[in-house]
Amino acid sequence: MPELARGAATLARLGISTVRDGLWYLPFRYDDFSELRPLGELVPDEKQSARATVATVRVEPGFGRRPQRVIAQLTDDTGTAEAIWFGRRYVERRLQQGDEVIVSGKVTQRGWRPQFTSPEFSAVGRDSVHTARVVPVYHLTVGVTQRRLRELLARILDHGLPSVIDPLTDAERHGLPALDDALRTAHFPEEAADVKEALDRLAFDELLALQLTLAQAREARAGLKAPRIAVSEADRTEIIGALPFTLTDDQITTIGEVLGDIETERPMRRLLQGDVGSGKTAVAAVALAAAVRAGWQGALMAPTEILARQHHAGLAPLLDRLGVRVDFLSGSLPVARKREIHDAIAEGAAEVVIGTHAVISEAVEFPRLGLVIVDEQHRFGVGQRAALQAKGTGGEPHVLALTATPIPRTLALSVYGDLSISTIRELPPGREPIRTEIRDRRALPKIEAFLAAEAGEGRQGFVVVPLVAESRSLEVASAEAEAERLREALPQLRIGMVHGQQKAELRDATMTAFAAGEMDLLVATTVIEVGIDVPNASVILIEDAERFGLAQLHQLRGRVGRGRHRSFCILLSDVTDELATRRLDVVRGSNDGFAIAESDLQLRGAGNLLGTRQSGLPPLRVASLFDPRHVELAQRARELADGIIGADPSLAGRPLLARLQQDFAPIEEEGDAA
Ligand code: ADP
Ligand code: MG
Repeated sequence: MPELARGAATLARLGISTVRDGLWYLPFRYDDFSELRPLGELVPDEKQSARATVATVRVEPGFGRRPQRVIAQLTDDTGTAEAIWFGRRYVERRLQQGDEVIVSGKVTQRGWRPQFTSPEFSAVGRDSVHTARVVPVYHLTVGVTQRRLRELLARILDHGLPSVIDPLTDAERHGLPALDDALRTAHFPEEAADVKEALDRLAFDELLALQLTLAQAREARAGLKAPRIAVSEADRTEIIGALPFTLTDDQITTIGEVLGDIETERPMRRLLQGDVGSGKTAVAAVALAAAVRAGWQGALMAPTEILARQHHAGLAPLLDRLGVRVDFLSGSLPVARKREIHDAIAEGAAEVVIGTHAVISEAVEFPRLGLVIVDEQHRFGVGQRAALQAKGTGGEPHVLALTATPIPRTLALSVYGDLSISTIRELPPGREPIRTEIRDRRALPKIEAFLAAEAGEGRQGFVVVPLVAESRSLEVASAEAEAERLREALPQLRIGMVHGQQKAELRDATMTAFAAGEMDLLVATTVIEVGIDVPNASVILIEDAERFGLAQLHQLRGRVGRGRHRSFCILLSDVTDELATRRLDVVRGSNDGFAIAESDLQLRGAGNLLGTRQSGLPPLRVASLFDPRHVELAQRARELADGIIGADPSLAGRPLLARLQQDFAPIEEEGDAA
């Protein structure tokens, strides 16, 4: 594909290195420019298309920081409009007085005349991928424009689609469109209405890939046995009695479920969901102590080093009191110390080991591993489960996963299928609810004064910068800009910053410093979502809150209110449409993560397209588990996967499906799921 060669560098920046990558690089949204409006009928504040004649073109040179502007007057039989571009040199070259053009873009009212701001345009009669149609909008990165990417992907589709072979038979497709049609439509739909079916098909493939992996894991596990860990009544009572508080009823029920599971030789696969601060760790501690008392080793794995450290700090005193030896294992320990711990584990002297996923699943052989606790494991069920299975020297370990992201039950069942679920709904007594307020940008000065006042009282705060759907690098840029702005506005405060593109060590160091009270404010992207426990933090400001999922907002809010101090969450939003308002109201009105998750599901409904970052769920790119149709597809995919794997466990006879499965295999991220 020689004409693509020049685009290769551009595409590589987006991680597209093969035709297949390009085919699956899907838009996250579409602009429907298919209807052509007469200029006289343009409506302000909407994205629209028009066909018009260029009456004049004027170029105003830029000076200083002001970019060059190109301004065109447009006319048709019904009226006139203006189009304006900033610093786009190609516009000047391509636009001539007298041209018949189609322009597509956002229209605003300028005085008595409608104005297109930086619209796409093309000559009438030329087939364009940018105008007068349903236009895809893709995630971008620095140095790649929407226009360029769209053209490159259109060419990839032309070249690549003819050789796409559908991995599914007609019967398996079950009425969904063929793969090549689905891919074409997902990028360049003829009509907006076609998108849904196409995405359903692609979502189905993705869900099937996931279900094939799960079915294989089930198949592989069917014959495996876990140790029977029998906990005596006396041990149970003693362990629970050693806790510095009285357990809630939900905690007691959950402990009963876990101890019941590990007593049998069927390997436990249990998900424990409960809001931040609901006391999941306490349940884990009891289970670990019980397993050790019964003669087994336990491990607790956290997604980041800092979380692992905090778990260690929290659990060690309790387990010590029960005479259980706890070791902390992390990549950053001196080599000699690591070796010591490895030896202790191998000899069985180390009874409970706490560390990061990576460290524990990499280096260590446990002779008597009975119970593994996985904290905030977003990928439970896929990659890391396999890694653990491999070390079952004393049999398969029992696994308990903890998550603060509530997953509605039907959804969890259709995705995970074989997981048992325990739920802690009730919070320990005596918690003051976090006060949540919705404000717009005009209130920023007051909010900043409030942040400063809290800092003056010795409290700390978080500032979460907006999600940027188009690109992570833009998100980082906005974190940097916001930190800069706040440092100027609040020079008396010590302000730190963390984001997902920093090196893990730097991020951890900053968070550790913040947790130690060495900073007043932490500006952050969502990396703090699965984050740190800073009881002294009393306020979190979330900017452009409407861009976040509700469950995510709730998670973020959970970063405060973890100590004795009265805590506040400020949702900043300038969007006033009804849905956005209702969504934010849900978060303001409730501190119950489950209620919020259910509302989120309902409010998003099927209108939700691609690209919402989901947490607590498998990393799906196409499928949305907030879409009831896709939950149904997940169920269908599961049945199909069971049938296929039952007949052909290694997929030897279905190479295309094996390929599909690989294509969707999750890539393990380093550290936090930033
Ligand atoms: P989670 O892991 O669910 O976020 P934790 O187990 O870390 O919650 O508990 C949060 C805080 O509440 C900890 O300080 C813990 O000691 C405390 N806690 C847990 N259970 C109880 C309880 N039943 N009564 C009082 N405090 C509790
Ligand atoms: Mg926790």
